Amino acid sequence: MTGDLESKIKISKGVYILEFFLSLETFIDNKNFSNYKLPNGWYYYFGSAQKNLFSRISRHIAKYKRKHWHIDYISSNKNFSINRVYIFENAIKKYECFLTRLFEKKLKLTHILKRFGNGDCENKCLSHMLYSKEQITKESIFNLTNELKKINIIYIEQNNFFHFR
Ligand SMILES: [Zn+2]
Repeated sequence: MTGDLESKIKISKGVYILEFFLSLETFIDNKNFSNYKLPNGWYYYFGSAQKNLFSRISRHIAKYKRKHWHIDYISSNKNFSINRVYIFENAIKKYECFLTRLFEKKLKLTHILKRFGNGDCENKCLSHMLYSKEQITKESIFNLTNELKKINIIYIEQNNFFHFR
């Protein structure tokens, strides 16, 4: 991703996937989920921003924030690190659910916290965050979503997160 990232993202809306790595078993301090010990591994969160996508991603990347959404309890947790962000440019909101289902079915990923992050879901997803013991390669993500040719996928590696600070 080159230096024009900021101008590219600034004008965009769409659906995104946040890829997190958790290095050791962790509890999060949200009262609804505090009884679950989360296993180390990879976490994929599916979200949508139909405006201000850039500032939304910035917010997710920021470690210190006022916790509002479920995902804030992951993104601000010291044991979780955000590794990569995938953006599905201009994808409409329901695509968030579509992607969750696609990943769940095709990659056999699990909803580790039921009802996590899907407060405004209209499609009865169990949650909007999936867990995988192994990292899902970007090649398999591209392959999986290949049928959606009209949607441009941008991915942002950790070393480009400074654009969002
Ligand atoms: Zn959903």
